[in-house]
Amino acid sequence: MNNLLRTYINRMSRLAGVSITRRHLDILEFTYDFYRKNRVGPLYQNLKKHIGATKEEIDAIFPNGLNSVYTWVGIPIQTPDLGCKPITQIKVDDYREVYFDYNSTTPLRKEIIKALLDFFCEKRAYGNPSSGSALGERAYLIINDARTKIAELLKVKSRNIIFTSCGTESNNLAIKGLAFKRLNEKGKILTTKIEHPSVLNSLKYLQTLGFDIEYIDVLPDGIVDPNEIKRRIDKNVFLIAVMAVNNEIGTIQPIGEIGKIAKERNIPFFVDAVQAFGKIPLNPAELNISVMSISGHKIYAPKGIGAIYIEDNLKLSPLLHGGDQEFGLRAGTENVSYIAALGLAAQIAYAEMISENQRLFSIQKEFLNRLLAIEPNIIVNGSLDKRLPNNLNIGFPDIDGGSLLLSLNQIGVYVSAGSACNAGSGEISRVIRALNVDAKKYGVIRFSFGLNTSNEDINYLFKYLPKILTKLRNE
Ligand code: PLP
Repeated sequence: MNNLLRTYINRMSRLAGVSITRRHLDILEFTYDFYRKNRVGPLYQNLKKHIGATKEEIDAIFPNGLNSVYTWVGIPIQTPDLGCKPITQIKVDDYREVYFDYNSTTPLRKEIIKALLDFFCEKRAYGNPSSGSALGERAYLIINDARTKIAELLKVKSRNIIFTSCGTESNNLAIKGLAFKRLNEKGKILTTKIEHPSVLNSLKYLQTLGFDIEYIDVLPDGIVDPNEIKRRIDKNVFLIAVMAVNNEIGTIQPIGEIGKIAKERNIPFFVDAVQAFGKIPLNPAELNISVMSISGHKIYAPKGIGAIYIEDNLKLSPLLHGGDQEFGLRAGTENVSYIAALGLAAQIAYAEMISENQRLFSIQKEFLNRLLAIEPNIIVNGSLDKRLPNNLNIGFPDIDGGSLLLSLNQIGVYVSAGSACNAGSGEISRVIRALNVDAKKYGVIRFSFGLNTSNEDINYLFKYLPKILTKLRNE
């Protein structure tokens, strides 16, 4: 089975809450292959004929019959049953690719591509930054320069910045790194129900080791109430973890107020700032943040590079053991070129923050007005005021989010879904559930904008969206 398919299946199984056995994998692999080659045909008979799958085995992975098959493989199969709705295909005469998924990841910006080309083709900086040679020193200085840039933007010392491989690693290092220092005494971590899976799953793991995790509800507008955090603090709490900006609904949390509470009680405060960094000003000292994670690929740097800010005197256990790179906190030879790219991307993001946010605000406003003009009954999930200007998370009444996502995908428009009939389970994102949105009524789609979002992109979407919605409702 190829890795892409395996990753896709793993993601679907997580969303659907299905634990995949070897036999499930065989059935799914055959099913994908079958539809890739045939598009239509007697799947069940073929599963039986070619891999000897029994009806019970097939039912176990496709509990809703062909509806489940459809959601696993993402192609339209018409069935009369309710449940997962098919996608719709419409003809477009001016096909283009439109990217409305910048909260998911961003393309490299041209300055970064140029810097990477320079690095690989011109700079001859391939030395090991830990080696004493002049070549090694050249690489070391490049890392140092990126560290200084990021530290200056955050108004912290460069010694406080540690490079990692991504936001997920930074989040793991923050949470486990602090918890592993307390393996004997354990204790409680206060967090919210809308954190990123890299935070929630790290916390879930700590629970298996005997740590206590308390998940705080957010208000219906997706904002955490600092007073609720204050109320929940007791003598066992040794860490408060709240994200700066939510990845699905773009809501900006009152980090300063929570930081103040944490400071008063002398509790370290960890902030996942992966979606916030480069988009809103963040000053860890002013906001009383003790640890903060960032990632390159949300700000037009490559995927696979991140960093973490750690305040002075806060002790964390490293997760990787090896050399003493990154002040002994993150072993492994540094990814020098990507570190340079992260430093440069951060610098540009800060330089353009005000003007880019203004541009994105007007895109967000126009987009929402045009949506309301064709769909007056949509809902906006999460506060509209306390939100990044590049995000609109929309509930479409009487639409299946997965069907809309796939239908848009067919005309080249890329978005994310927050509620979809995944693998026949009708899975709804944790964040949307935390907002108490009626997910039976609304199909949730996240539109997120960025550097290359143009009027032409928006016009293209609005040329076809009404037709897609009408067809989806009528099919
Ligand atoms: N935290 C948040 C809020 C995110 O949005 C993401 C990425 O989507 C991450 C953490 C993980 O970052 P990375 O993809 O660099 O591992």
